[in-house]
Amino acid sequence: MVFWSQCEELDGTVKSVLEPVAADIDRENIIPEDVLNQLFDVGVFDLGDSLGDLLCKVRVVARYSPAVAHTLLVHAGSWLALGRPELGRGEILALSITEPGGGTDLRASLKTKAEREGEAWYITGTKIFTSNAPYASDYVVLAVGPAGPSLYRVSRSGNVKYELLDLIGLRGTGASIVHYERAGGQPVGTPGKGIKEALKGINLGRLGYGAIALGIIDASLRIIVEKASSTVIFGRELLTYQGIKWRIADIHMKARALEDLIEAIVSRAGDTWIVDPERAAIVKVMGAEAAQKASWAAVQIMGGRGLARWSKPERLQRDARALDIGEGAREVLLDYIASQAVKAYT
Ligand SMILES: Cc1cc2nc3c(=O)[nH]c(=O)nc-3n(C[C@H](O)[C@H](O)[C@H](O)COP(=O)(O)OP(=O)(O)OC[C@H]3O[C@@H](n4cnc5c(N)ncnc54)[C@H](O)[C@@H]3O)c2cc1C
Repeated sequence: MVFWSQCEELDGTVKSVLEPVAADIDRENIIPEDVLNQLFDVGVFDLGDSLGDLLCKVRVVARYSPAVAHTLLVHAGSWLALGRPELGRGEILALSITEPGGGTDLRASLKTKAEREGEAWYITGTKIFTSNAPYASDYVVLAVGPAGPSLYRVSRSGNVKYELLDLIGLRGTGASIVHYERAGGQPVGTPGKGIKEALKGINLGRLGYGAIALGIIDASLRIIVEKASSTVIFGRELLTYQGIKWRIADIHMKARALEDLIEAIVSRAGDTWIVDPERAAIVKVMGAEAAQKASWAAVQIMGGRGLARWSKPERLQRDARALDIGEGAREVLLDYIASQAVKAYT
């Protein structure tokens, strides 16, 4: 537990900010500005701390709103892809990579262009599923420039227009279609190396999905234990049934394994924040699976009440589902993990 306990003192504060509004965020599909401001005030969006501290914050926030945790994580991934610049207070970043042609085969679907006129650069194209679009002051955009795929920092302006998507999971994280209409931008990083540089943020995102998964598991286990210890069925507390205890054990074991794996990756990354891509992919696949199982169990133990629309278990299982698609589809990551395994055993 090198870092998981570090931001536990934030739990009470985050709970008091998010618990009263989490269902509304999900229903309205947007995080109100005053909620973001409160989270800035208590330091949730500060990125200067260690990678472990960030992941711990993502986990704590995800207990109450996985969508808000996702917004924090995408902000951090964009910041890493930009080379960890100083940010002003209240600034939120977005990473705008995926295009309507498909997110898996990035190179084939990349149509957004960057054109130079004198010292100025203009970005033109359409992206899809850009999280944080409604909140971002700056967008880190992958576009084809003279040297090939490169990253550009585009500031919010009238030439950046977004349409919020109505998804079933992580509602409120602001996933949007974004149109860049000759939007002014500045190149960042090495020209032609945009995909590699975006992957720094994407790999952090994959690792962070493991922290979101842990937050969903924490919230699910709280629901399960509370219900199981306060309900008597056929004359026995639910918690005394082996079927319930083994289910709790199964979820808890996976959470512990995930904690330790994330901790080992963070320790290897050190101050660089550059995470091992293979292990980040493993964390994402394992985390999504465990979070889906845990949130499904939370719905189940609540009986019919677990199916109530906007109830916490219902929201958690929709959010857990999204973890298998965002930051790279599960099958693509399994293909990659398999290729690493084949290399290791050849
Ligand atoms: C909630 C959410 C937030 C997101 N946030 C961002 C963001 O901030 N910025 C951004 O740029 N993008 C973002 N994305 C996009 C995300 O990265 C893509 O959705 C993802 O990469 C998959 O791309 P796609 O949706 O276009 O699906 P496609 O690439 O069209 O793939 C469709 C499906 O094909 C299957 N598939 C693909 N390859 C294989 C294979 N090799 N074997 C078997 N099956 C396969 C998978 O099941 C996959 O889901 C977000 C997505 C979601 C859901």
